[in-house]
Amino acid sequence: MNRDQVFEFFRRLAEANPSPTTELDYTDPYTLLVAVVLSAQATDASVNIATKPLFERIKTPQEMLQLGEDRLREAIKTIGLFNTKAKNVIALSKALIDRYKGKVPRTREELQALPGVGRKTANVVLNTAFGEETFAVDTHVFRVCNRTGLAPGKTPDEVEAKLEKIVPQPFRRDAHHWLILHGRYICKARLPECWRCPVIDLCRYKPKTLPPEERARSTAARTGHRGKSAARTGKARTASPPKAGRSRSRPTRLP
Ligand code: SF4
Repeated sequence: MNRDQVFEFFRRLAEANPSPTTELDYTDPYTLLVAVVLSAQATDASVNIATKPLFERIKTPQEMLQLGEDRLREAIKTIGLFNTKAKNVIALSKALIDRYKGKVPRTREELQALPGVGRKTANVVLNTAFGEETFAVDTHVFRVCNRTGLAPGKTPDEVEAKLEKIVPQPFRRDAHHWLILHGRYICKARLPECWRCPVIDLCRYKPKTLPPEERARSTAARTGHRGKSAARTGKARTASPPKAGRSRSRPTRLP
């Protein structure tokens, strides 16, 4: 995409959703940090279910330490990887008290030095809690950037570096939220909903997904055709397995 197309891409996402934000529930930088750590390889909805009662009782690193690892584990046991996450949340809460008087630090280096905090988590906290123009690349952002041609890259770090370079003002602060939400609700992993996509003409992904009714018609036409041909030849109507490298399903070039 050229510069004008990149601007238009974000202008349209912004028009569709003028005030995007994280879907994780939190009340301050500390609870946001905990929620983001808990959200690794889990859905925001599943994290919110566990943190709702937890954050009613626990609002500070001190309170988290008083709760203790066993009771925290019990509180988050519905979230994947809860054992490791409980350990990390207790360890990072202790580190916040020891190093920063219980406050969440505001630099990437300090955040990434905390237990369980990687670059993506640091970027989310810097952006959402402190308003920094950072680009957290999760699975949705990675997929959208590659599929569309907006910021292709083999790794999240490569995609992030490209976003840093190409995203113009006034979209830099909210860009990662628009990309996450676009990936979560429209440019979905298994079947992107191209027919209702606001950036369809800017996106290089092919073939575009047809509207459900057109797909249903084309499936019916295909099935009908196969049915007649099977009847003519007397062969069973079961589809033969696709040959290696020649799958008949939609191309899914990228995650
Ligand atoms: S046109 Fe399709 S593949 Fe491209 S961004 Fe939109 S939903 Fe994703």
